[in-house]
Amino acid sequence: VTPNGKKLVTLIPGDGIGPEIVESACRLIEAVGAPIEWEVRRAGASVFREGIASGVPDDTIESIKRTRVVLKGPLETPVGYGEKSANVTLRKLFEAFANVRPVRELPSVPTPYRGRNIDLVVVRENIEDLYAAIEYRETPGVTIAHKLISYKGSEKIIRFAFELARAEGRKKVTCATKSNILKLTEGWFQHIFEEIASEYPDIEANHLIIDNCAHQLVKAPEQFEVIVTTNLNGDIISDLASGLVGGLGFAASGNYGHEVAIFEPVHGTAPKYAGKNVINPTAMILTAVMMLRYIDEFETAETIEQALIVTLEEGKALTRDVVGDERAVSTTAFTDAIIANLG
Ligand code: NAD
Repeated sequence: VTPNGKKLVTLIPGDGIGPEIVESACRLIEAVGAPIEWEVRRAGASVFREGIASGVPDDTIESIKRTRVVLKGPLETPVGYGEKSANVTLRKLFEAFANVRPVRELPSVPTPYRGRNIDLVVVRENIEDLYAAIEYRETPGVTIAHKLISYKGSEKIIRFAFELARAEGRKKVTCATKSNILKLTEGWFQHIFEEIASEYPDIEANHLIIDNCAHQLVKAPEQFEVIVTTNLNGDIISDLASGLVGGLGFAASGNYGHEVAIFEPVHGTAPKYAGKNVINPTAMILTAVMMLRYIDEFETAETIEQALIVTLEEGKALTRDVVGDERAVSTTAFTDAIIANLG
């Protein structure tokens, strides 16, 4: 918090369409009068091209250590620069172990599931599993990757999922693993889930094999409230789940660590549309709403979310991914329409 009572947040506009959607979210936050002071910092493509191999400069890291909250646009990982993505650098550096993706039906958004009341959250372990990316060539014809599952890492994410369920008044947590085949890693995760579930008698706990979970998500998505799973499983089913409610233009996410939380839309930099003022900023706006709630700005979060829902419901100003080129308005005009509905 600054001397004038504002909450400091590190803002990374990012690459491609990033600056346009971040501007849209920031205009809404300003219009609603949320007491936030941005520290604008860089990461991503331009940083890699300067020769910084991590894609994240020191002054960005220093800012995040201080503010402990980040709102960011998507980052490009230019092929041929650096070693890994700047996103992975940020998640690992700040031990953002929990990736949270809310999946909810929104008005006016075309989906095959309209009226089914999809409202679930995918909680994905964000650091361990195959994403430790420990790989080697055993022989000229054989490669091996390590799948790392720790008790501590599993316990943390599972507890996080139960606490999230309690905080949001959700009644059920589903664990999804491949425990039938990978008994020592995925099977252990299931075992730890069952152990911790006993501490939350108010919440129903069940387990599904991950392939059945994918099937159930497509067949009867309304049965889920919170899904907790290991990293690779979570990567795949959280994208699947985003697809149920309209796709990438609507998918928000938060990456939570013990000290730092990083909020970003699920989608990438959509380079084809960069600078064209046509992209849908909804995922970024919903991401900003998650961020506001995290810093206890519940009222301003609610006001922005309601204005967004009303704008979608009215259906007068929608972007091209929702209504096609002929009826579409620009990113800026869509944002103006939401601001007009702030009430
Ligand atoms: P992408 O998400 O940028 O695009 C996939 C498709 O979805 C494209 O057709 C795009 O036009 C569309 N799309 C994405 N966001 C949209 C929006 N808000 N409104 C309407 N349509 C939207 O994925 P990609 O093309 O695979 O990746 C492009 C770049 O983004 C790559 O460099 C990749 O590494 C990066 N990326 C970054 C992140 C991140 O920063 N978290 C996530 C994914 C990809």
